[in-house]
Amino acid sequence: MPCKDFHDLPKIQLPDQNNSLMSKQDLILLALDASPALELMARTLRASEFEVSTVQDREGLEKLVDQSVPALVLVGENFGGEDGLLVSQALLERFPTLPIILYAAGVVSAETALRAGLSGILRPPLKGEDVVGEVRRSMSHAQKLGDWVRREVKRTTASLEQKAKISEAERNKLEAIISNIQDGVIVLDDHQQILLVNQTVYDIFDLEKESLVGKKIREVIANADLSALIDRARNGTLKYHEINFDDGRVFNAQYTPLPRIGSAVTMQDISYLKEIDRLKNDFVHTVSHDLRSPLTAILGYMELIERTGPLNESQLEFIERLRASVQHMTGLVNELLDLGRLEAGFDTRREMVYLDTILQYSLAVFDNQVRRKNIQLTSDVAGDLKPLRANPIRIRQMIDNLIGNAVKYTPPNGMVKISMAMQENQLILRVTDSGPGIPTEEQNRIFEKFFRASNRPAGVEGTGLGLAIVKSIVEAHQGRVWVESKVGTGSTFVVILPVHQ
Ligand code: ADP
Repeated sequence: MPCKDFHDLPKIQLPDQNNSLMSKQDLILLALDASPALELMARTLRASEFEVSTVQDREGLEKLVDQSVPALVLVGENFGGEDGLLVSQALLERFPTLPIILYAAGVVSAETALRAGLSGILRPPLKGEDVVGEVRRSMSHAQKLGDWVRREVKRTTASLEQKAKISEAERNKLEAIISNIQDGVIVLDDHQQILLVNQTVYDIFDLEKESLVGKKIREVIANADLSALIDRARNGTLKYHEINFDDGRVFNAQYTPLPRIGSAVTMQDISYLKEIDRLKNDFVHTVSHDLRSPLTAILGYMELIERTGPLNESQLEFIERLRASVQHMTGLVNELLDLGRLEAGFDTRREMVYLDTILQYSLAVFDNQVRRKNIQLTSDVAGDLKPLRANPIRIRQMIDNLIGNAVKYTPPNGMVKISMAMQENQLILRVTDSGPGIPTEEQNRIFEKFFRASNRPAGVEGTGLGLAIVKSIVEAHQGRVWVESKVGTGSTFVVILPVHQ
């Protein structure tokens, strides 16, 4: 595996350890304006078997340093109309180990030169042996620095190689695990390109046996449910979604963001659970249906008993209790039948529905109850509400259930607030109350059939089906519903319904 950090090291020049200090190859660049000093330097260095080149301006200097890798550069204090110290500093930024000597006839002090990173300074009056001595000293120092850098690089590389080996081994182990698990796994980068898929994914989507790595998921797996999950999960509105296939298979897909990588989608086959659920629903539907006729008969006969002659007080009380129970059972059976129809997808009626109008009807129904409990009910309906393409009866049922619950669970003198607003092309309905609230760990479950929260007030009647019906209706209209609630403070049920243009 290539080591990125190593490649990113700044370009540095290391004196070649095999070259002797006196070798012919040691090139000295003289970056000085034409002067007797320049001539003296060139002459004495050549005499000491150095190779010498001169440059006239900064551009030429940088080009030559780049191309010919000099062993040392000698820069004049004023060079080509520029400040030699600044020119040297710029060079050192690119080539931090290049030895540079400043020839300073003016005010620059040795301290300033050394602080700027230069390796030496020469001053007039210039003597040949001083030039050669300073050049050799600087080169020797650079040589030692080069050795040290070389050693450090070697050490770092060895440790990076070691790390790379470990992570390669770990990667192989991880790949083996992912390839062999039964769940489908897709790992994506931030641009929805595939980083990893396991065999199960190939089997689930019946894909050709070619590598999918590096390809855009949308281009290789054309599945509307999967695309919807990825799109909606990325903007944080969804974490799991069912993937349905025409042949009846159903998978539960989950989306997990992976920091610094992208995301992972895992898929479990839940076809058998769906089948069990379907059988159970069929059973419940059949039983509910068959219960309806005897219940109607019981109610009918109870009416008749009262007409057969005078009844005493106890008999009347018992009949009243019977009637309440039978009505409760009838309500339950009707809700079960409703749910059965909704889950079977029979609800296909669609027409223009104005939610504000439906809300008025619904509020009228609860008016008595609201007054009796002295609940302060307010509604806030935005003026720009767009109509929905929906089944008006189901929408009414959904609103009735939510407002009904809010009024039912809120204690006397409490508050219920309903709001409707548009957000982009979505209609947002909120039903807020000051009731008992719902414990956090139960908030997901209250939409399940028959689930009733553990903190519900004693004596409040219910079947535990109302919210399951709400959820089915909302989902049949491609919407979403959830609750935000705090025990002791109250609850807000939020429904989002898309408005089709
Ligand atoms: P139920 O017939 O019991 O009201 P639902 O399906 O409508 O059935 O609601 C399920 C459970 O959720 C209720 O039993 C109750 O515990 C809780 N719940 C529903 N709405 C509210 C609310 N507005 N405030 C507090 N709890 C609620």
